[in-house]
Amino acid sequence: MEISLHNQVAVITGASSGIGTGIAKSIASAGAAVVVNHSSERSTDEAKAVLKEITDAGGKGITYQCDVSKEDQVVKMFQDVISEFGTVDILINNAGIQKDSKFTEMTIDQWNAVIGVNLTGQFLCAREAIKEFLRRGIDPSRSVACGKIIHISSVHEIIPWAGHANYASSKGAIRMLMQTLAQEYGADKIRVNSICPGAIQTPINKSAWETPEALNSLLSLIPYNRIGQPQDIGNLAAFLASDLADYITGTSIFVDGGMTTFESFSTGG
Ligand code: NAP
Repeated sequence: MEISLHNQVAVITGASSGIGTGIAKSIASAGAAVVVNHSSERSTDEAKAVLKEITDAGGKGITYQCDVSKEDQVVKMFQDVISEFGTVDILINNAGIQKDSKFTEMTIDQWNAVIGVNLTGQFLCAREAIKEFLRRGIDPSRSVACGKIIHISSVHEIIPWAGHANYASSKGAIRMLMQTLAQEYGADKIRVNSICPGAIQTPINKSAWETPEALNSLLSLIPYNRIGQPQDIGNLAAFLASDLADYITGTSIFVDGGMTTFESFSTGG
């Protein structure tokens, strides 16, 4: 059984780092052309380095700077990608940020920044992707589905997270966005799912793994007793985007080493 994404085009938001990079590599190795999106000028070199690794391994793609929280930039990114590659088949809605604060001290800027990227960004990209899927229709030489969207959510779509109300709220909302889109566009053969990572070793959560003490404390939450790697998420993303997953839509899949079994209850709670 082979995961094949040949002839397909995938936009991966926030692919210059961490989980997005892992997903871009997996999707490219399954044969799709990838758009390695990032938002800041300062991450241009990282995005180019990701693309170079992909092309050195025989894959293809482009880098594209676009802030997913800005409507005009997202509309232009999809227009440019469609004019470069002809269409888009797969959207990986991955870009996300944290701006942590005790709730009573959380500023409106911290709230808006996180909701803007993590939720509004996923809305804007999904809207432009679905418009393109519907315009193109099903092309069996590409996929039996009309299009695939994978939202990168988090275990915090179900685990409340003190000190991170903006982040947890954005991820809880993604679950409803994902399920609503799966319901609204199922008959059009557009599949929409979420991947909910647990603790994955990336820059976003460096403080949780950079010292042995922090890592030990983190591992106490993970029955499988290791921190996750971007590849763990990339493996599932490639499968979910492929026709092997054609009957999977409207669901959240947790990739968390068992974190959502609530390890702290293993000794009786
Ligand atoms: P990361 O290493 O910090 O990478 C974040 C990526 O998002 C970077 O490429 C960044 O590029 C991009 N980005 C940030 N704001 C953007 C914007 N406005 N527009 C477009 N791109 C933007 O983080 P990560 O850990 O890989 O996280 C990726 C996703 O996984 C997030 O949605 C996060 O919530 C989720 N997640 C992560 C974990 C974990 O343990 N790591 C767990 C659960 C869920 P720029 O630097 O150019 O902005």
